[in-house]
Amino acid sequence: MSIAFGAPGRYIQGPGELLRLPEHSGTYGDRVFAIIDTYFYKELSGRLAEAYRSKGGTISCVEFAGEITKEVIGRFRDMAEGACVIIGIGGGKTLDTAKALAAELSASLIVAPTSASTDAPTSAMSVIYNDNHEHDDVYYYVKNPDLVLVDSQIIADAPVRFLAAGMGDALATVYEARATLATGSPNYINQETGPYLGTRTAVAIAELCGDIVFEYGEAAREANEAHVVSEALEAVIEANTLMSGLGFENVGCAASHVICNGISATPEGDKALHGEKVAYGILCQLMAEGNTQELAKVREFYRKVGLPLTLADLGVPATEENLRIISSDTKNTEWTREPFEMDDEKVYQVVCAVERLGKD
Ligand SMILES: [Zn+2]
Repeated sequence: MSIAFGAPGRYIQGPGELLRLPEHSGTYGDRVFAIIDTYFYKELSGRLAEAYRSKGGTISCVEFAGEITKEVIGRFRDMAEGACVIIGIGGGKTLDTAKALAAELSASLIVAPTSASTDAPTSAMSVIYNDNHEHDDVYYYVKNPDLVLVDSQIIADAPVRFLAAGMGDALATVYEARATLATGSPNYINQETGPYLGTRTAVAIAELCGDIVFEYGEAAREANEAHVVSEALEAVIEANTLMSGLGFENVGCAASHVICNGISATPEGDKALHGEKVAYGILCQLMAEGNTQELAKVREFYRKVGLPLTLADLGVPATEENLRIISSDTKNTEWTREPFEMDDEKVYQVVCAVERLGKD
């Protein structure tokens, strides 16, 4: 199999970068359409309009709230007709909507995450849901965002829980990369002409991602609590966003993300953040791999930064029914990217073992 690598065109990270959007978007064109998360809409739409006005330009801003569905994407596409730069500002769903719009309009794409909670910003894909918040589809695009713009001060002002969740998603990158590598499984690049294996470059990025999170995670959490943009926080923002994003897309996911999806399928599965569920998934993956040394290291780290050790920590009761949902459909998921045979019963036993350990 050949190897392949994909990445955003540019990545810029630092305090105050969001209000420099007029300069950043000017590189790509002057008809600018921004989708802004409902939480930030009121404040940012006004400040951005002012920033553009002061540079002699304009920006159309619309509010994003709710779910990313095919219908919602269609509605925004009609509003954005004629735009040559699409900007998404907010969380994963807002950014994924902006990606879909830019692809449909063949417009340039700027993605500005307002938290470092997932590694979605850099990737060339969107996860689509239906009105019942159930997973519907995944859209793959021919290119990654043209610019990923991360304003560190906005991340520093976001709730600490988001940063911790992002560390969970980032840590999974290294363990899933190792599994993917061991099984020679393909990555997510250029699905149209794939499959391809990950590059050595991507594997190195995934490993560095894990190192940075372990080294700076605790200090970054403290900085976030104090709303201070420190070196440690900058390092973890880069790990959570750029390294984790490049890592997962260019190497591939494995068991940690399957467990996350399983938790999402339980009735209480929407209480926790993606990265928190993935963090729990890491515990299950390492347990399944029999990697007790790494499991102990990860659990110690979780205690320091506030990541879950049990399903109860995620707001999900460890009922027999939920455990069965989490360990179902093993044969058709990324469990097959682990270097050993798994079935539903074995996964069930693994989750039970993680629960027992968590209660100690
Ligand atoms: Zn993830």
